[in-house]
Amino acid sequence: MRRSGGELTFQDLRERGTSVLLESGIPEAPRDALLLLQNAAGLDAAGLLARLDRPPPDDAAALFREFVARRAAREPAAMILGRTEFWGIPIRVAPDVLIPRPETEGIIEEALRLSARDGLGLRTIADIGTGSGCLAIALAAEFPDARIFAADISPAALDLARTNVEAAGVSARVRVIEGDLFEPMGSLSLEGGIDLVVANPPYVRRGEIDSLAPEVSRWEPRAALDGGPDGLSVIRRLIDGARRFLRPGGFLVFEIGHDQGPGILDLLDRSGFVEAVVAPDLAGLPRVVVARIPERDERPSSSGARKGQECSVC
Ligand code: GLN
Repeated sequence: MRRSGGELTFQDLRERGTSVLLESGIPEAPRDALLLLQNAAGLDAAGLLARLDRPPPDDAAALFREFVARRAAREPAAMILGRTEFWGIPIRVAPDVLIPRPETEGIIEEALRLSARDGLGLRTIADIGTGSGCLAIALAAEFPDARIFAADISPAALDLARTNVEAAGVSARVRVIEGDLFEPMGSLSLEGGIDLVVANPPYVRRGEIDSLAPEVSRWEPRAALDGGPDGLSVIRRLIDGARRFLRPGGFLVFEIGHDQGPGILDLLDRSGFVEAVVAPDLAGLPRVVVARIPERDERPSSSGARKGQECSVC
């Protein structure tokens, strides 16, 4: 769609960008080219569609070419733009944090289910390893009566989390705190007092990180991915800490790798959790673990180990 003057239109740029990205082996090339073009031109989807047969301003075209070159080098689109969305909420991202993923929204869905179905009163929530703060912010949006403690060991991640919490307008209820897993909760005397613990912990087996997509292995922080030799190093400590910090009847909800369900259900069982299940993500892969601490008077026969119970898709 070259115009008579030989000028390239938005549509030409979009097509060229898509081919460059396809040649670099990026499966979502058409979508990413469109997203990057929109952002380079400062337009929304409708604005861009309405202008496809027009030439873009020179600076937009130059910026788009730069974005495409970066994306072709496998930098994630969210990293190039410095932001993405989680649970419909804009979230700033940087190489210091894991980019929020759609499958992680399953944690919010499970929290909503627990509150609706089990009448779980959510007043005190902990988000362990908050990264960008996406889980804490989405939970703050869904549970207006809850206070949320969002912890991370990385100061750079916490800076970003604070920015995101403020931008979302939930800073009065989300406290962003530095420390390793539950360590900061200890100094706040939250032991035995948390209703819900959520986490998207690092769970990739160390030896498998380099075989992940280059967007992940080259651009995302190792600390947010590396689950140690068997992928479970952090999860073991998460389960241990959650057992101490949850109140009786409180829930632990966290994301896992698709092949980790049976091993993790076993760990939960041995740690005294009950009714542990793994819910599938949108792709049908077992992704979100939900488990409960028994009530104080709950008998072991009803609470006891329901080994490997109902992992619907493992
Ligand atoms: N789901 C991520 C990936 O495989 C891993 C995230 C994590 O370790 N929490 O790309």
